[in-house]
Amino acid sequence: FPVERIRNFSIIAHIDHGKSTLADRLLEITGAIVKTERNKQVLDKLQVEQERGITVKAQTASVFYTHQGQQYLLNLIDTPGHVDFSYEVSRSISACQGVLLIVDANQGIQAQTVANFYLAFEAQLTIIPVINKIDLKNADPERVEAQIEKVFDIPREECIRISAKLGTNVERVLQEIVERLPPPTASRDDSFKALVFDSDFSHYRGVVANVAVFGGQVRKGDRIVSAYLGKSYEVNELGLLRPHEHPTDRLYAGQVGYMVAGMKDVKEAQIGDTLYHQQHPVDALPGFKPAKAMVFAGIYPMDQSEYTGLRSAIDKLTLNDSSVTVQKDSSLALGAGWRLGFLGLLHMEVFNQRLEQEYNANVVVTAPTVPYKAEHGSEEITIVNPAQFPDRSVVSQYLEPMVNGTILAPDSYIGKIMTLCLNRRATQENMVYIDDHRVMMKYIFPLNEIVVDFYDLLKSMSSGYASFDYENAGYQAADLIKMDILLNGKSVEELTMIVHRQRAYNVGKAMCERLKDSIPRQMFEIAVQAAIGSKVIARETIKPFRKNVLAKCYGGDITRKMKLLKRQAEGKKKMRRIGNIDVPKDAFINVLKRT
Ligand code: GDP
Ligand code: MG
Repeated sequence: FPVERIRNFSIIAHIDHGKSTLADRLLEITGAIVKTERNKQVLDKLQVEQERGITVKAQTASVFYTHQGQQYLLNLIDTPGHVDFSYEVSRSISACQGVLLIVDANQGIQAQTVANFYLAFEAQLTIIPVINKIDLKNADPERVEAQIEKVFDIPREECIRISAKLGTNVERVLQEIVERLPPPTASRDDSFKALVFDSDFSHYRGVVANVAVFGGQVRKGDRIVSAYLGKSYEVNELGLLRPHEHPTDRLYAGQVGYMVAGMKDVKEAQIGDTLYHQQHPVDALPGFKPAKAMVFAGIYPMDQSEYTGLRSAIDKLTLNDSSVTVQKDSSLALGAGWRLGFLGLLHMEVFNQRLEQEYNANVVVTAPTVPYKAEHGSEEITIVNPAQFPDRSVVSQYLEPMVNGTILAPDSYIGKIMTLCLNRRATQENMVYIDDHRVMMKYIFPLNEIVVDFYDLLKSMSSGYASFDYENAGYQAADLIKMDILLNGKSVEELTMIVHRQRAYNVGKAMCERLKDSIPRQMFEIAVQAAIGSKVIARETIKPFRKNVLAKCYGGDITRKMKLLKRQAEGKKKMRRIGNIDVPKDAFINVLKRT
């Protein structure tokens, strides 16, 4: 297929602005999928994606489209829609020449719209702004077009107004893709060079890599090398994704497709890596860095007898996701387990949800922590486990990871948002109006202050109108300490955390209060304490309560008695025992939220 008639593009958008819906419409119009009710969101394949309405893995589809009597090959490269996956977004984008930047006609520009725009802009891609959901009663396309002109410096006349849901004007989007996006600059005469922009694992075939061919061509049977690891492989299978696998003999420069080459582990096909022919080495594509874990948590089986089962579930899930890091870990209280690293909190939640849904795993998850650093002389260590937090006496300084945050919100919430950010040790960088009553605020935050509940709080205090996105901004010195949570003097290991000294009292107090509310009264009094070393900084007390289930069944109804005993035993199953105290498993999660 001639390179001049290929167009590679991505759809980028803030969550819920209609990326998946538009992708489905494009596939329908070009006949790649048949229009049926059940076709909703063909590209979102994982169960969690369907449930949470987010895209976790990039999906690709190649379609044919005829414009003015000429047939074009359009490669749609879907991108993950969440900040946690922004590295993957940037890799997907680098396989394209242009993007459709979707903005909801009612909500207007949101934080992820801004972040995604800059990824595309920095990659020097052609940007086609698309205003979606014009069918909504409260749609205000004029206002949104003015925002686009102001914030992105794109003339408002370039915006296409559509309804992805109803299909209005979607044909026009296809025409503009053909007319406005340049073809890839790839040449078939060059040496073979391809970008890996996604990878997946299949039990029968090993790694299935999604690749964009930047130069030359690749055939079945060729020997290729991955630049990052320098390992060589034989290409067993190749093809296009339409959107289902469609095997072909070759992939040419400018094309996008999948490749199976005997790789046994997704870590061998890192997103952003370059592939080339063994006989013709080429320079790797620029900007490759393996995805970096920013949130760490311990994961332990509820019961040690489930260790082996959990290990195999974690192995299977990480086979599909090279960005999760896994280390063995153990603790006196929790037994043997692992410390896993994730790209962000959502990534961690999605992973845990998949463990529970797809593998029926029953796990204890510890408080998430960010990768802190400690310096001593010229030595530097990274701390991903609060249990290994080095004492101040052996450290010259601690460092914490920082992020650049962008918040967009109606200006009536400015005061509340500034207070929230101040409480999270943030520094304001600037604030600009994007239209008459919406502002864009930029802050530098310590990552640990936004990792757990910042987004939820921001959303609820702004009645859902504020949006937030962030990117890494290096490390900064910080006065950190380790805080323990105790139940009758025994440490609750999953709640041990590293906090900033300035925040210790508030965080500790809030955790004690919440723990008090989530632990049912027991036969004895329970002291809930937050402590730094041996110094208690906050305390709550849970008063005793005599919960005598059997007292209710006067008379001798033995079956009823048994039933009650059984129910109580079942209730206990979801409990974690700390000392002699039973704590409901979900108490920990509730406690971690909103501290
Ligand atoms: P994504 O998160 O960007 O992939 O967004 P989705 O495609 O999943 O859409 C989010 C929600 O908006 C869904 O409930 C869609 O049905 C709805 N939606 C998408 N496009 C339109 C549209 O043009 N009009 C209306 N009214 N709703 C839409
Ligand atoms: Mg989607």
